[in-house]
Parts: sequence; structure tokens; C-alpha cells
Amino acid sequence: MKPEPLWIGGREAAARGGESFPIRNPATGETVALAALGGGADVERAVAASREGLASWSRLGPRDRAARLFAFASVVRKNIRGLAEAETRNTGKPLRDSLDEAGVVADCLEYYAGAVQKFFGETIPVTDRGLDFTLREPIGICGLIVPWNFPMMIASWKFAPALAAGNAVILKPASLTPLSALMLGRLSKTAGLPDGVFNVITGPGETAGRALVEHPEIGKISFTGETATGAGIAALAAPSIKRVSLELGGKSPNIVFADADFDLCVERSVFSVFGNAGQDCCARSRAFVERRLYKRFVEAVVERARRLRLGDPRSPKTEIGPLISRAQRRRVEDHIRSGVGHGARLLCGGTAPEGKGLSRGSYLRPAVLDRVRPEMRIFREEIFGPVLCVMPFKDEDEAVALSNASDYGLSASVWTRDIGRALRVARAVKSGVVSINSSHSVHLEAPFGGYKKSGVGRELGFKALDGYTEVKNVFVAER
Ligand code: NAD
Repeated sequence: MKPEPLWIGGREAAARGGESFPIRNPATGETVALAALGGGADVERAVAASREGLASWSRLGPRDRAARLFAFASVVRKNIRGLAEAETRNTGKPLRDSLDEAGVVADCLEYYAGAVQKFFGETIPVTDRGLDFTLREPIGICGLIVPWNFPMMIASWKFAPALAAGNAVILKPASLTPLSALMLGRLSKTAGLPDGVFNVITGPGETAGRALVEHPEIGKISFTGETATGAGIAALAAPSIKRVSLELGGKSPNIVFADADFDLCVERSVFSVFGNAGQDCCARSRAFVERRLYKRFVEAVVERARRLRLGDPRSPKTEIGPLISRAQRRRVEDHIRSGVGHGARLLCGGTAPEGKGLSRGSYLRPAVLDRVRPEMRIFREEIFGPVLCVMPFKDEDEAVALSNASDYGLSASVWTRDIGRALRVARAVKSGVVSINSSHSVHLEAPFGGYKKSGVGRELGFKALDGYTEVKNVFVAER
């Protein structure tokens, strides 16, 4: 098997070190590709290529950049099936989810192609006589470091605004999931992006990722991943005073009042924690339910969780695919064991399915636990697997207090028909995103990001363009 090359300066490039690493399909355990093991020397080449790419890209006006990004979106749409199949082969996620996510990549490119044409500075009334105005200028070279749970979609949340604003990007996918990023690199060329504007370096975080973060010519790092990794990256980026945005972990609450639309709430609650096999930073992994609805809600959720169809990710019937790796499954099982060991009760799931081809993959049946207490690890730590903790609450204050008893603050849902209460709770919950009667956390047009240890900065919406530009103030004296 020949290793998938890096993508540098608009062409394929072997890693300088000549090494590669295996890429596995988590549904079968098979090696499906080899990827080039990029390192510091390759980052150096990508920086040089970006420098050259920037020379033409940053000089284009917004309309011309937008035209290339619309073309990129259209090439992505034409290749949606190939992208989705690669993503599913690499992550194990159901193909229909990969198809949706590939569609989001195109949507995101189109959104920022449009947005950047309406993005401009201000004229500011200053005391001194003259004219004061601001310019929005690209930062230059941006390093984009992404995780394995939504590889191409999260990458697009970064490269679409970064490119629209006139930057060059070096994308580093997670080492487990580089295939879609490499395809996107090749498609950027088909779409007519100048060479060197979109580069992809595959390899481990500790070497390839670290080389990006430490490189003095890279002006910004946009990172999505674990909170501990993000803290390390912020420290590594500090000496060169890089701009850093961090999208980190979550332990999101799902607050259910007794007057909620029951059937809708149960269905959405189940998918909001078990979708993507629970490997979702916004997973509503802590359900707080008003005491008088508690028993009925728990029974319904357990019943629905038991019926979730685990299976071959390529089958349209499959609702839940495998976890990303056996190591990840062991991590999740360890959390469940710890919870049960400290007195939580496992109501369903938590075991690896046997037979029907599933035993080869890293599947885990969705688990629901009750009798959870706030001091337990399963309540406090991000599990990143199909595990739901349920707890009853007596009133609004207790629901808010339980929700906020977390180091994280990424997303939250509130289910109630009482709009006053919904708004009070939405204000009181400390998180970057609150969904009322919905489990959707992400809208391309709206800002997304975390409070507390869930991150720094915002992606998506117009806000993201702020994060990929510098503000220059210009004053012209009136003489
Ligand atoms: P991770 O932190 O292990 O890795 C993320 C990326 O960082 C990978 O590309 C990795 O190679 C790279 N990396 C690791 N060490 C590095 C270093 N020292 N220097 C530079 N780069 C380094 O995360 P993961 O396991 O891939 O993803 C799961 C995590 O991502 C979860 O915690 C999840 O909550 C989080 N996540 C957050 C969001 C969000 O928007 N808030 C979205 C998706 C995932």
C-alpha cells in the first residue's frame, strides 16, 4: 500500500522523513490506507508554500476570492459521495451522516463566500480633526488543528472563514482521520484556489501539530480538541504571541421540564447524546428531568436507546456506528465501570455487541445510568462515548445549579412549553450555546463556542471573520 501523500503548495508531497502510519476503519478494524507521517520539515515546506500562495490570494478583492470559494463549494458538491464514503471508511460514522457533513462543508464555503463581501471596517468619529477608519486585514498563515469526530465538517468551519478573509491555511487533521482533509486539499486545486493557499499536513499532534503551533511565521492557531490538549497548545503558542482560538470539550446538560413536548423531547434527547456514537463535544450527556416526569422519561429513553440500530455504517438503516477505536471504547467502558463502582445504576447498554460482523468493530451499546451524583467522574468528565447520565430535579433553581456544576460550558438544551421559564433558564445556564426545545447546537450563520473550559473564541457566523483578521486603525488628519 502506497502512503497517501501530504498536500503542499498545490501538489502531492511525500513526507521528508519517509515514514507513514496506518489508517483503520473502526467498523471492521481493517487498515484502509497509509498516511504520510509529516513533521517539522514538512511544516516548514508548507509555510514556504503558504507564503507564496498568500502573495496572490491576499491581493484578490473579496469578490474574486468569493468566486473561488463558490467554485470550491461546487466541486465539493460534485464529489459529495466520494468525500462521504472516505469519511465513513475512516470514522465509522453512518454514511447518511457523512453525506450531511459533506453538504455542510459546501454550505460553509458558500456562507463565507457571501459573508466576506459584506464584511468591512468602520468610520469612527474621533475628537481630533480628521477621518478615522478601520481596515480588516488577513492575519497571514493560519494553522488549523482538528479532531477526529467530525473531521471534514470542523475543518470547514475553520478554512472557509480563514480563506474568505484572505489567509492561507495549513490544515492538520487528527492522525486517526486524515483521508477527507487530503481529498479536500486536492479538490481545492480543482476549484482553482492558488497553489499554497490550502495545505494539508498529516501526522501526530505531538510532532506535526506542535511544529505548527511553534512556527514563528504562523500567525494564528485555530484548534478543536480536548481541553487538556488545548491548554498545552495555548502555552506553546504563548512565546510567539500567536492568536489562538480553542474549541474544547463539553459535558452539556439537557434540562427537561414536565410540560415539555414529551415524544419530541425523548427522540431528540436520545440522538443528542448517542448520535455520532456520543463522540460529540455538544453531546447532551447529562439529562436533568423534573421529578414528576422522571420515571416516565427514563423508561422512554431506555426503551428508545435499546432500539437504536447499531450496524454497518454503509447501511441506510444504521443509526449508530462504532467508536473511533478500541482504545476509545476502553476509555468509555472504564468511565461506566467507575460510575457503577461508585453507586450509579446501569439501566441499559455499555457492552460490546456480539455477532453479525459487529464484534470486529469498536461498537458499544448506548448506555443510560441513573443514581448519579455530582461528585462522580461520570458526571464531571467528558466521556466522549454513548453514555447518558440521568438525574431528577425538584425545581428550576436546582436544574440550573446542576447544569452549572461543571468545568465545561459548551451547549445546553431546555425543554419546556413555558417561554418565560425557558428564557430564564437560558440566561442562567453558563454555556456558549443554549437550544430551547431543540438539540441543535450549530447553525452556520450563528456564533458557536464555549464558556469556561469549553474554549476561547467563537467559530461560525460573522464572528468567525473577526477571528481571522487583524483590525488596523487609520487616521487621516484634516489640514
Ligand atoms: P485531541 O485534543 O486529542 O486532538 C485534537 C487535534 O490536536 C488532533 O489533530 C491532534 O493530532 C492535535 N494535537 C494533539 N496534541 C497536540 C500538540 N501537542 N500540539 C498540536 N496539536 C496537537 O482531541 P480528539 O481526541 O481528536 O477529539 C476529541 C476532543 O475534541 C473532545 O474533547 C471533544 O469535546 C473535542 N471537540 C470539541 C469541539 C468544539 O467545537 N468545542 C468539537 C469537536 C470536538
